[in-house]
Order: sequence, then C-alpha cells, then structure tokens
Amino acid sequence: LSPILEVRDLYKTYRLPRRQELKAVDGVSFSVHSGEVLGIVGESGCGKSSLGRCLLRLTPATNGQIVFEGRDITHLPERTLRPLRQRMQMVFQDSYASLNPRRRIGDLLAEPLKVHPDTKGRKRSSAKITARLHELMQLVNLPTTALARYPHEFSGGQRQRINIARALALSPRLIVADEPVSALDVSVQAQIINLFADLQKQLGLTYIFVAHDLAVVRQISNRVAVMYLGRIVEIGDTDSVLHTPAHPYTAALTAAIPRPVTGLARPMPLQGDVPSPINRPSGCRFHTRCPYMQTRCKQEDPALRPIRHNGHEVACHFPL
Ligand code: SF4
Ligand code: MG
Repeated sequence: LSPILEVRDLYKTYRLPRRQELKAVDGVSFSVHSGEVLGIVGESGCGKSSLGRCLLRLTPATNGQIVFEGRDITHLPERTLRPLRQRMQMVFQDSYASLNPRRRIGDLLAEPLKVHPDTKGRKRSSAKITARLHELMQLVNLPTTALARYPHEFSGGQRQRINIARALALSPRLIVADEPVSALDVSVQAQIINLFADLQKQLGLTYIFVAHDLAVVRQISNRVAVMYLGRIVEIGDTDSVLHTPAHPYTAALTAAIPRPVTGLARPMPLQGDVPSPINRPSGCRFHTRCPYMQTRCKQEDPALRPIRHNGHEVACHFPL
C-alpha cells in the first residue's frame, strides 16, 4: 500500500529583516496512508500551520519534497497542479474569515463546482450543481434552506459545517484541517470533531488534523506527530504516543490532558516559554525546557529514530 502523501525532509524558511531567518518547518518527513487520520500537535509557533500550507502548496516549501498520490507536486506549475487541487483541500480555524460575507452559502459552495470541471472534464450543469449542494448540506447536517442565507446568520459551529461542505464539494481524498475547532466552544468542538470523524468513515477520507490541543487530536487521530520548533519530535500510533510518550515534551503535553486516575504518576507539566524560532537552541531544541537535559543534549541535535516495533519514533538522546 503506497501512501497518499509523502513528505521528505521539508523546510520552510521565512527571510526576515537584518538577515535573520525563521525556520518555521525545519526538516520534516512523514507519510500518511489512505484513510488514515494523522494528528499534528504542538504549541502555537511550532510550524504546524506552515507545514499544513506547504503540503497543499498554498505556500511554497523552501526545500524538500511533497509527493501526493505518487506524484511529486513540490515544483509542479500551477496549471498542472490545478486539477490535483480538487483532491486536496484545507479547512481553516477561522470559520468567518474564509467565507465571503456578501455571498449566500449556495453561491459560496457552488463556486468550486463552477470553476472546476467534473471527473469527465465536463462543465457541470446548474441542475447537477444544485443536486450536489443539497448532498453537501446533508453531509454536514444543515438544512437546505441554509443555502439561501448569508454567513453572518450562522453560529461559529454552523459556519464550520459550511466550510467543511465547501472543502468536500469537489470530493477530495485528503483534507488538511488547521485548528478547525480551536475557535469554538467546547460543546460545539465535540460536535464538529464527530462530524469530521463520521465524514472520514463515510467517504473514506484521509485527514491531517492540526491542533494545539492534544485532547482534540486524541479523539480523531490514528497516528499523532508532535512538533516542536519546526521539527517532529515524536510520531506513532495515537495510543502508543499518548499512553507511553517517549519524548519529554510529549510527556509534558500529555500531563495537561484531563484523564481518569490511572495510578500512574503524572508527568511533569511544561516549564517556561517556547524559545524564539529565530534563535533556536543548539543541540536538542527542547533542551532549555527539558527536565532530563544532559550535556550531550546541548551539543547534538537528536534525529528521529524508531524506539518500538510499531512505527513509534522519537527524537531524543534519552527517551523515557
Ligand atoms: Fe531532553 Fe535531552 Fe531528550 Fe532533548 S535530547 S528531549 S534535552 S533528554
Ligand atoms: Mg497555527
């Protein structure tokens, strides 16, 4: 089984004034198989949004390779990329900013269907478009009357349903969701996560689900990647990573998840702030906050390496 998406040694560097550089994504490699949900978790500024945007070519990567459905899309010209764009979509955090307030929901959702031809390369008839709009409303559990209304008439959760419907319009295979529930109330978050989960099963979708909240990622992901200052520091099956974290950073993040008493000692909560990604610490990038730091950690940058037999990998000289 070949992966739907393969990312090889990806970099995204922003040039700043005074010859400074911000390495938002700093050598990231992973792959995602069809039908899988990969959660990407980390504090704000760890590069997870930049990574998401690079994957869908919404912003160009500085270096590395992105292979989608077996095809290297890293440098494809926009014209060649365009038909592939239907197969990979993004859902953003801010449900309001991504919907033009002056346009009715029906028009907003019809737009991609008008712009892109169908799978046989033909322009869709308006009857086909209307039928598809009704299907989309049904998929995200909104009444078809919503199509005639404007974005401001909906709650945040409903607007996120509309955004999901728009992402689904062209039947994509891969959806990158960047903090899709972070702006919502906790009770609404659960509904939207359930919707994502239902759609994933129903349509056989693949997700990359980006969040700063491990509790959110835990609910939906088969696998989890933990990012810190531009790099994946731990990746593996959700249960393996969350129940037996090997990286001190993951252990600290899991300490923040509420859970029933297990009799296990709770790991240390995180100390201090994330260092500036412009002036990254030497050696292990987590050493300024790590309770287990040793001399070697300041000198050598640990590479991601397998620690268990189930694909669990960690970048730490002294894994837990
Ligand atoms: Fe901590 Fe050292 Fe591991 Fe980095 S390499 S996470 S500083 S123990
Ligand atoms: Mg972000």
